[in-house]
Amino acid sequence: MEYRVLGKTGLRVSSIGMGGIPLQRVSEEEAERIVNLALDQGINFFDSARGYTDSEAKFGLVFRHRRNEAIIATKSMERTREGILQEVEDSLKALQVDYIDLYQLHNVKSLAILEQVLGPEGALRGLQEAKAQGKIRYIGITGHVAEVLEKAITLGEFETVQFPFNAVELGPTEKIIPLAQAHDVGMIVMKPVAGGAIPDKNLALRFLMDYPVASIIPGMDSEDQVLENAAIGRHFVPLNEEETKRLQESIKELGNTFCRRCEYCMPCPQGINIPMVFLLDGYWQRYGLKDWAQERYLAMKVLADECIECGTCASRCPYGLEIPRLIAQVHRRLGRN
Ligand code: SF4
Ligand code: SF4
Repeated sequence: MEYRVLGKTGLRVSSIGMGGIPLQRVSEEEAERIVNLALDQGINFFDSARGYTDSEAKFGLVFRHRRNEAIIATKSMERTREGILQEVEDSLKALQVDYIDLYQLHNVKSLAILEQVLGPEGALRGLQEAKAQGKIRYIGITGHVAEVLEKAITLGEFETVQFPFNAVELGPTEKIIPLAQAHDVGMIVMKPVAGGAIPDKNLALRFLMDYPVASIIPGMDSEDQVLENAAIGRHFVPLNEEETKRLQESIKELGNTFCRRCEYCMPCPQGINIPMVFLLDGYWQRYGLKDWAQERYLAMKVLADECIECGTCASRCPYGLEIPRLIAQVHRRLGRN
């Protein structure tokens, strides 16, 4: 397995790590087999979240026995000092460990939220306290909005940054990656196969490994997937010309139906969170997390059936998505009516 240094943490993480979302849909026994096999195959970086229901607890079934072999990352959506201190305790209990290597502020999606977490009673303060107490070792941030992550990287408060990056979402190459490199902030890549939209996983992962990111964390829900992904991390070969062409062709086919979460279409006058609608639909269609995605969709403040087809969003989308038509389809799938 190829190991890379995770920025200023100095941790040596496997270039292919494991994302924890899919563990939610396998049994405890299957989860144990998958995580044990990943460790046996040299994967040492694991990323979970408080928000991934029983994912931390399933990881914990293995980590309680093999703590020293794993570099454990998790994250919380709590934004206050008090709230996140409780979340750290809950994570420690679920993961069955007495320290967590990396605790991240999960999905910080606006500058206002960033300001809140940095405030005197904000979540960053809580994580700093947990760090001083030895409960966590390093602090990171995750999100999808470039402007927020770029600002966070320059603050010097975060040792890692986690962002979506794949052959169809190349935004991070513009600023996030060079900035993180310049500030020695360790880079963790989520959504490496665009939520399952890129058909050839091997090409998708090797494409990313050519960038100076530390760990790429595809989700894995079977032992076959672990073997397949670990092999890519073990024998990294950059894409040749023919493979690059093949990858580009497959992306072209995604064409104007795949949302890259750039948010240029926002705001919607009806208050519909358009990228979130597409994100949840991706989980529904490609990750097999149907109940999970539907529950979150139905909990959104405004559902896609509030669309009045004004067309403002579609005229702003640089990828030509016919947003009103596409979100109406999503509503038919997830809207329960
Ligand atoms: S077309 Fe629908 S989703 Fe798009 S901006 Fe108008 S109301 Fe919002
Ligand atoms: S502008 Fe298009 S690609 Fe960007 S978030 Fe909106 S729908 Fe997705």
